[in-house]
Amino acid sequence: MYLDFESTKFKAIVPLSGGIDSTAALYTMLKQNPNTNYLVFRIDMVHGTSGHRTTREAMATEKILAWLYKNGLTNFGFRELRIDYSSLGMMPPVWDSEVVNFAASLVIQAKPEISEFIEGAIKDDFKDAQFEGRLQKIENILYLHTQKTPQELKIKFPLRSLSKYEVMKSIPADLLALTWSCRYPKIIAKWTYGRCHECPQCKVIDKVLEEHVGEFSA
Ligand SMILES: [Zn+2]
Repeated sequence: MYLDFESTKFKAIVPLSGGIDSTAALYTMLKQNPNTNYLVFRIDMVHGTSGHRTTREAMATEKILAWLYKNGLTNFGFRELRIDYSSLGMMPPVWDSEVVNFAASLVIQAKPEISEFIEGAIKDDFKDAQFEGRLQKIENILYLHTQKTPQELKIKFPLRSLSKYEVMKSIPADLLALTWSCRYPKIIAKWTYGRCHECPQCKVIDKVLEEHVGEFSA
């Protein structure tokens, strides 16, 4: 099955939420570097408004990893961490990316050979005026908690030149169909989750689908 966490030496760590961007970043790295071992990790972020999201993202992650493995991209191991900060109230007091990077630093402490962090930010993220500041903060979190220098732990952005549309086109359609990006999944029928079409992630995806009718199946 997937590479063994204990006995494998990993070069890089890749956070995977099950969303389009993190899935595309992982797919790109595995495909381009078949002889490099990647440690994929998912954070089960439990907070006041996480609701169905954590469950739906966990389902997506499981299916995505199984798809990659079945399609010959087997150079990865997998770990999941749960961080429950729901007792701090409905509104999460920190950005998701801050929690992800803090958790990543814990994993890197357990696997100190890791020298690369794969960040799934895309071109559209870099256009956001607030993004540089947020990026600086999450990089600081990573370096503070791993005690590594930027030379010892490089942050890579495999999707930084791609728009959302280009990211969606960069992975096979059947892999794209397994991803889940909606922040507030709804139960739309018995045993069936649907996208909310209201959260920022849904709006971006719906815009791409509207502008490229017939190019994507979902
Ligand atoms: Zn949504």
